[in-house]
Amino acid sequence: MKGLEVLFDQMEKDGSTKLKKFLKDAKVKYDIATVDFMENPGVKWSELLNLRALKNAVKLDVFKSVEKDVAKRFSSQKARAILNFPVLFLGEMPSRIPSLYTLMNYVDLELGTWYPEGGMNALSAALVKIAQKEGVEVYTNSEIKKFNVKAGKIESIEIGNDSIPTEEIIASADYHFVEQNLVPKEFRRYDSKYWNSRKLAPSCLIYYVGVSKKVSGLLHHNLFFDEDLNAHGKEIYENPKWPEKPLFYVCAPSTTDKTVAPEGYENLFFLMPIATEIEDTEAIREKYFQLMLNRVEKHTGTSFTDSIIYKRSYAINDFAKDYNAYKGNAYGLANTLRQTANLKPKITSKLKNLHYCGQLTVPGPGIPPALISGKVVAKQILKNYEKTV
Ligand SMILES: Cc1cc2nc3c(=O)[nH]c(=O)nc-3n(C[C@H](O)[C@H](O)[C@H](O)COP(=O)(O)OP(=O)(O)OC[C@H]3O[C@@H](n4cnc5c(N)ncnc54)[C@H](O)[C@@H]3O)c2cc1C
Repeated sequence: MKGLEVLFDQMEKDGSTKLKKFLKDAKVKYDIATVDFMENPGVKWSELLNLRALKNAVKLDVFKSVEKDVAKRFSSQKARAILNFPVLFLGEMPSRIPSLYTLMNYVDLELGTWYPEGGMNALSAALVKIAQKEGVEVYTNSEIKKFNVKAGKIESIEIGNDSIPTEEIIASADYHFVEQNLVPKEFRRYDSKYWNSRKLAPSCLIYYVGVSKKVSGLLHHNLFFDEDLNAHGKEIYENPKWPEKPLFYVCAPSTTDKTVAPEGYENLFFLMPIATEIEDTEAIREKYFQLMLNRVEKHTGTSFTDSIIYKRSYAINDFAKDYNAYKGNAYGLANTLRQTANLKPKITSKLKNLHYCGQLTVPGPGIPPALISGKVVAKQILKNYEKTV
């Protein structure tokens, strides 16, 4: 935080004092949301009707926007952009996301940005290890093609040529895909009109890049804020198109983790948020790669174009093809007030033994919420068993 406080003092008068107060208020929201709301299954309105939660709800600032909250406290455009930026991934302009979500600033800036050594895959590998220790059999690269339904229950699922009998199913793949493709029509809770009316979080353009030399001037996390946040936000949410002057993020994990690149090499990851449902071709991707590359080279003062030995792009079409992601989204549903808590697609299904978890249901997008979602469903299933015993 020290460096950030110095930066905020440079950007405006009493910047660091204002930042501390802002993060103190964000912590209040974080504490309330995690204790009172985060693990609610969102199946009954009465979940929200406990007195403490109601009293605390007032402090969550759900009717004030992030933009308004930030603008009231900070006068410099740079400070405002830094604090509004995380919200860009939540699925709406900062002017339409409830100030509740400034809790993300608290998480980023106070609790810290954590990196699992070995990269994100290390997290999945660790979860698999724990599950296997508990006797779980894990199938990978195995697409579920069909639910076999009898008397309102899924009797078995089909994976490749195998048919596996089932007792309880927790579907963590894209909710829309499971509901509209695997669940028979008469057991769907939502129709295509419902799904079409949902506001989605953005997709993104990613480039995985290997460089055969070190790129000085890059940190592990690098945010390129050198263009207008508002203009880019509008090109994602209001007038969906490829952005004129995008903001983007570059991760250089090889600056801190020796396992992700050979010595003297750099492992880079470029990420630019974009709208879902826009044209996605290799030529457009390449145009934006060059644009980002130029800005990184300019900023770092290091030219490395000629040292790129690996390059792979990933965007909307890949999310849809590889993950069955609805409209090629990368971050699930937008976190607008109308799509929060009990207003999200339900974790329960009309099929007796089917349950949903993951980023399109409660509590929402992000790895911690997606994991919490699994915990919420597991508790709900255990509760059902207790009732029947
Ligand atoms: C580039 C990027 C950066 C991100 N950075 C962060 C971050 O820093 N911090 C953070 O908290 N969150 C981050 N997120 C968001 C986070 O990754 C997601 O919110 C989270 O992974 C969602 O988890 P999930 O289980 O709902 O879905 P997923 O992780 O998409 O998992 C669903 C799985 O279901 C599988 N599947 C789909 N259909 C089938 C089928 N028919 N049969 C079998 N399997 C199927 C898919 O292949 C996939 O593996 C990021 C996301 C992206 C795209």
